[in-house]
Amino acid sequence: MEKLKFLLTVTFLLILSQTILAQKKSVDLIVSGGTIVTMDAGKRVIENGAVAIQKGKIVAVGTAPDILRRFVGRQIIEASSKMVIPGLVNTHTHIPMTLFRGISDDLDLQEWLTKYIFPAEAKNVTEDFVRVGTRLGLAEMIRGGTTTYCDMYYFEDAIADETAKAGMRGVLGETIIDFPVPDNKTHEQALAYTEKFVNKWKNHPLIVPAFAPHAAYTVNEAHLGNIKKSADKLNAAVVIHVAETQNEVNDIFKQKKLRPIEYLDKINFLNNRTIAAHVVFANENEIDILKSRGVGVAHNPQSNMKLASGVAPVPQMLFKDLPVGLGTDGAASNNDLNLWEEMDTAAKLHKVFARDPKVLTAEQAFEMATIRGARALHLENLIGSIETGKHGDIAIVDFDTPHQTPFYNVYSHLVYATKASDVRTVVIDGKVVMRDRRLLTLNENVIKKDANSYQKKIIESLLR
Ligand SMILES: [Zn+2]
Repeated sequence: MEKLKFLLTVTFLLILSQTILAQKKSVDLIVSGGTIVTMDAGKRVIENGAVAIQKGKIVAVGTAPDILRRFVGRQIIEASSKMVIPGLVNTHTHIPMTLFRGISDDLDLQEWLTKYIFPAEAKNVTEDFVRVGTRLGLAEMIRGGTTTYCDMYYFEDAIADETAKAGMRGVLGETIIDFPVPDNKTHEQALAYTEKFVNKWKNHPLIVPAFAPHAAYTVNEAHLGNIKKSADKLNAAVVIHVAETQNEVNDIFKQKKLRPIEYLDKINFLNNRTIAAHVVFANENEIDILKSRGVGVAHNPQSNMKLASGVAPVPQMLFKDLPVGLGTDGAASNNDLNLWEEMDTAAKLHKVFARDPKVLTAEQAFEMATIRGARALHLENLIGSIETGKHGDIAIVDFDTPHQTPFYNVYSHLVYATKASDVRTVVIDGKVVMRDRRLLTLNENVIKKDANSYQKKIIESLLR
């Protein structure tokens, strides 16, 4: 009798526990513990929080006890004593240029481009070069917690392939420019390549294919018109350098009697699929034009400082709530792809330039690296914050180092004290791509070896 009682009790408990478990929804991944910096509309910061991710999407965000009561994760990432932040958004790169890192420094844009970069590109850029440089850039960006980047270069189809294989998200634009380049020799070829490229990748879960006319001073009006027409037809994004230097402003004004942004607007080039890189020279009227057309802006403080291009009117843009993100630009003009430095630099550059420490706050800088950057890429409904319904793009940041001790304010710490090397784990589209600083989708040793073999080739090519 006692035995029967015992068996009945065990059976009852088993059924009960299974019923409780059955009430819990099973999800692919739970990031549990830690402080969640959501960057949602209310800028919620959740202590001892958790995020549940299913099929690449965030399905719940809340306190850890709440999420763990409702969900059971097939995979759990423990994030106690860490910050859980939205993956960073790098709004402007030329990713394969990592292979030109340090090739020539301390020059202005014109001399740097025409004497070094354009010749080095003509002699070295092949599809293999692009693949090696892309893998190197992806490894660097993932290690620093970047989960989305916006690129413009040649052989962008190969860049998309490498990006997708690494599990990284990208807005990737094929560069179109009015001189023969390594992949396309004429405007017509470049346009045909880009149309094919956009059609091939447009439904990919990680890749947003785009057109990338280099700039208004390197692509003529008729060609810009063709690009606009193709992009409209395919509903594709358009990435372009805009008003980067005083020289550009002078050249366009000489030809068109308009400033670059006025000119681009006059030819109906600007809309809510445009991503304008730099925008160093924009007056109040031009900022209003960008705002009214819904143009996204990529601010590249370190590149603009290194090439001595100037200081973009970012506080004025933020005052008018423009979608401004942060970008590193190519590694040759930076010389790294580290968004933590861009946040820190953006905040400090504008303070010193305006001689007003309140002109760009740490919170605004962090916003530009996350949700406002997502707006700049026109992807704010998909990425840039930790919110239900968005893609599971998350970085987990260590907060237990001497340079982060003690701790008072989330944004101050993230912008002024945290380093890229403090990022421990990175999740993109619900998949772990770096765990405890080990890359899971890229082989770092092979990448470094391949990149170093290009360094020798590039030096020799410049001596010829
Ligand atoms: Zn650029």
